[in-house]
Amino acid sequence: MDNISIEKIRKDFPVINRLVKGKPIIYFDNACQSLVPKQVIDEIVDYYNNYSSCAGRSIHYLSTQVSLKFEASRDRAAKFFNTKSNEIVFVRNTTEGINLVARSYPFEKGDVILTTDREHNSNLSIWHVLKEEKGIIHKAVPSKEDNLFDLEAFKGMIDSKVKMISMAHVSNLDGVEIPVKDIIDIAHSKNIPVMLDGAQAAPHMKIDLKKMDVDFYSISLHKMCGPTGTGILYGKYDLLKNLKPFIVGGSTVANTFIDKTVFLDPPERFEAGLQNYANVIASAKSFDYLSNIGMDFINERVKELNKTITNGLKDIPEISIIGPVDSDLRSGIFPFNIKGMSPHDVAMILDEFENIYIRSGRHCDHSWFNKKGISGSARASLQFYNTKEEAKKFVETVIKIIDSFSKLKKNG
Ligand code: PMP
Repeated sequence: MDNISIEKIRKDFPVINRLVKGKPIIYFDNACQSLVPKQVIDEIVDYYNNYSSCAGRSIHYLSTQVSLKFEASRDRAAKFFNTKSNEIVFVRNTTEGINLVARSYPFEKGDVILTTDREHNSNLSIWHVLKEEKGIIHKAVPSKEDNLFDLEAFKGMIDSKVKMISMAHVSNLDGVEIPVKDIIDIAHSKNIPVMLDGAQAAPHMKIDLKKMDVDFYSISLHKMCGPTGTGILYGKYDLLKNLKPFIVGGSTVANTFIDKTVFLDPPERFEAGLQNYANVIASAKSFDYLSNIGMDFINERVKELNKTITNGLKDIPEISIIGPVDSDLRSGIFPFNIKGMSPHDVAMILDEFENIYIRSGRHCDHSWFNKKGISGSARASLQFYNTKEEAKKFVETVIKIIDSFSKLKKNG
């Protein structure tokens, strides 16, 4: 896709086109939350303007429209991820998807759960809770020095006690992808189910769940040009069926008696209470939007933008990059530190100088930073609507910050 098309695409995103302090903004915080195109926003507004009522309960005209559109979104998601509709559970976000499985899977005392040593807190804290509550054992596969996955270390940790492998497909720390095919092949050869945290993979990569043969997969729509607080848990149907209900109550039951509840089958069993209809319905437009652009194109584009940034900064002595230096191995993420400066200061100055918005801190990966003894990092994260000009501006501004900082230091 050429520049003209990107220009056209950018017109769809109201936030990209706003001015702050009279200047354009550069949004490089896409790993946290992506921007939303007007097609998705319009769909949300349409719900509230035209048929804002609930699905699945009342039988009137408006409610029926909501029910049909809600289920159409499920079908759309299933098509996007190449799976079946009854394997798609709407949740609030990746965190909820992982919690749902962790809490509802029949783990027993002594069961081992394997993660990597670089997990988002969303795929870490729950295992600590279950250690306290159920006596499960959490083990983390150590990554290689450059943060790449260590397949040999992983193989060495597989034994009959391992009852689930739960790992981030792509890390939000540094954009590094784990070798899912090898991991799933090895796990399945020992009958161990694999749950992947797809929060950072699904926004940039074509995810074919059938082909991948993963057992559980969670995503957040708000990282995929979709509405906030809306996510999906995928599970193979037989596995979903064996999960205990998670949050229970209205919409999850087939029938109740004073002394017992009969629950619905998945996916409804896991969608308790009145749902976020507007957002779920609008999520279909996000999938349409991403599909129209093409996930392969998106993948290539974020890597290309990352290459521009990486090549512009990697040889500067004051810059240290977290994870592999090769940008192709970091998808759309450029995590870095400037020697002597706090990552928060770097983020604030980028904002102050040029309206460049990045994230700084420990990115919910506290455990990795603690292990390495690093206080945090600055992180630029890219999406297809970012431009080469923005990437170059980012490089120039970081260099300007380094120069100003070293002048300040010299002048005491
Ligand atoms: N896992 C990864 C790899 C993430 O990047 C994030 C969000 N930064 C999450 C999980 C949690 O996502 P959410 O807050 O949408 O639940």
